[in-house]
Amino acid sequence: MTVHFPFQNSYSALPDSFFARVAPTPVAAPRLIKLNRPLAVQLGLEPDMLETPEGAAILAGKTVPAGADPIAMAYAGHQFGQFVPQLGDGRAILLGEVIDRDGIRRDIQLKGSGPTPFSRRGDGRAALGPVLREYIVSEAMYALGIPTTRSLAAVVTGEHVIRETALPGAVLTRIASSHIRVGTFQFFAVRRDTDAIRRLADHVIIRHYPELRDVQRPYQALLAGVVARQADLVARWLLVGFIHGVMNTDNSSISGETIDYGPCAFMDAYNPSQVFSSIDEMGRYAYANQPRIALWNLTRLAECLLPLFSDEQEKAVAEAQDILGAFSDQFSAAYQAGLRKKVGLFTERDGDEALIQDLLDAMAKNQADFTLTFRKLGDAAVDDSADARAQFIEPAAFDEWAGRWRTRIALEPQTAAERQSAMHAVNPMFVPRNHRVEAVIQAAVNDDNYAPFEELVKVLAKPFDDQPDYAAYADPPLPDQRVLRTFCGT
Ligand code: AMP
Ligand code: MG
Repeated sequence: MTVHFPFQNSYSALPDSFFARVAPTPVAAPRLIKLNRPLAVQLGLEPDMLETPEGAAILAGKTVPAGADPIAMAYAGHQFGQFVPQLGDGRAILLGEVIDRDGIRRDIQLKGSGPTPFSRRGDGRAALGPVLREYIVSEAMYALGIPTTRSLAAVVTGEHVIRETALPGAVLTRIASSHIRVGTFQFFAVRRDTDAIRRLADHVIIRHYPELRDVQRPYQALLAGVVARQADLVARWLLVGFIHGVMNTDNSSISGETIDYGPCAFMDAYNPSQVFSSIDEMGRYAYANQPRIALWNLTRLAECLLPLFSDEQEKAVAEAQDILGAFSDQFSAAYQAGLRKKVGLFTERDGDEALIQDLLDAMAKNQADFTLTFRKLGDAAVDDSADARAQFIEPAAFDEWAGRWRTRIALEPQTAAERQSAMHAVNPMFVPRNHRVEAVIQAAVNDDNYAPFEELVKVLAKPFDDQPDYAAYADPPLPDQRVLRTFCGT
C-alpha cells in the first residue's frame, strides 16, 4: 500500500521564473501529532493512510509522494511598508495541487520543510509553537466561517531548530485555494516583466475568478474582484476581533483567504488600537487599521496591473483609482451589516450606525470583552442582561445603552427567542484566546503533552455552540494570564 495523492498540478507548469524546483529536506524522526481527518477526506486523500509511518514521512517532507512536483514559489513584498524585491517561499514547499470534493483546486504545501533558494539567512524550518498556533487559529477561522487557508497536519521532525533557544522542529501541511499573493505580482512588476504579469493574471482568473474569463476588460475586473473579496475579508476579521498582525503585501492573498498566521491574535477587551505583534512597533497593523492597510496593499496590486489595463499610463491610473475607490463602501457595507446582525437588528433604520458605535465606544471605555459582550447581548435579548453588563467596568454604561437598544428592537416583529438565536449564530462563544493558545503550546513544547491542544481544537470547531462542559474556554484571561505580545516565531 502506498499513500496516494491525486495531484493535478498547474502552477509548476507556469514559466520557470515563477518558482524554484526544490525538494523538501529529509528530517530525522517524523512523528505525526495531528491529522485533520475531515479535511483529508474533503481533499480526496485517505486519512488512514496518512496516519501510517509512510504518511507521516510525507507530511514531514522526508518522502516525496508520487505525482508531486515540489516547488518554492517566487514573490516579493512590502514588509511594514518597505519593499523587498525578492522574498519567496523560504521555508515552504508546494508539493502540488489536488481538486477537492467541491471541485476546487487546493494547494498542498509543507511549511517548515527545509531551505529553498529563497531562504536568505533563514534555516527553512519552523518551530513547534508557531505550527500549533497556525493549526489552531486557521481551523478556528474556518469554523467561524471566515475565508482562510487550512491546516491538514502537524508533524514533529525529531530535530531541533535554533531560535532564541533550541526548540522542537515541526512541519505544518497548509492547504490554500492558492498561495498567490499581492507580492507574487510585485515580483514581476519590479522586474518589468509584463508578460509574466499577464500569465499570472490569467492563471488567477481561471483559478479564482472564472466568471471573469469572458468579460470585456478581464484585468480591471480581476482587480475589482480582489478588492471586493479583501473588503469582505477584513470586515469579517473586525467582526470577530481578529488582528492579523503582519499584513505585509506578501501575506495578502489574491483569493481573499486569510493567510500567514504569524503573530495574529484575537483581542479580549475591545480596543480599536490593539496591537499584539512584538515586531509591529508603530502599530501599523493595529486592529482598526486593518481596512486601511488592506486598501494600501490593494493599491500596490493595482500598480502591478497598470500595464495590463492600457498603454496610456494616465488612462490606466484613472481606471485603477476608480476600482480602488469601491473598497471603502464595500468594506463599510459588509462591516455595518455584520454589526447590525451582531446586535440583533433584522432591519435597517436611521440611527442604527450611531447606536452601534455608541456600544463600541462604551465597550472601549469599559474594557469590555469583545467576544463575550456580543455573545451575552444575545441573552440580553431575552431579558437576561446580567452577563452582558458584567463585561463593563461600569455596568451603568451598558444599562444606559441597552435602554436605547430595547426601544430600537421593539420596533421589529421578531420574538426575543428568535433574536437570541440569530445573534448566537453570528456571535461566537469561543475564539482562540491568546492565553489558551499559549498554554497549549507550553504543554506541547515543554511536556510533549498534546491533550490540551486536542481539546482546544475540538472546542473551537463549534464556536457558536454553548458547550457547557467547556465553558471555561470562553473566559477572558485572568490578569496574570494575559498575553500581551505575540511573536512571528520564524
Ligand atoms: P513571513 O514573515 O512568515 O511572512 O515570512 C517573510 C519571508 O521570510 C518569507 O519569504 C519567508 O519564506 C521567509 N522566512 C520566514 N521564516 C523563515 C525561515 N525560518 N527560513 C527561511 N525563510 C524564512
Ligand atoms: Mg509570509
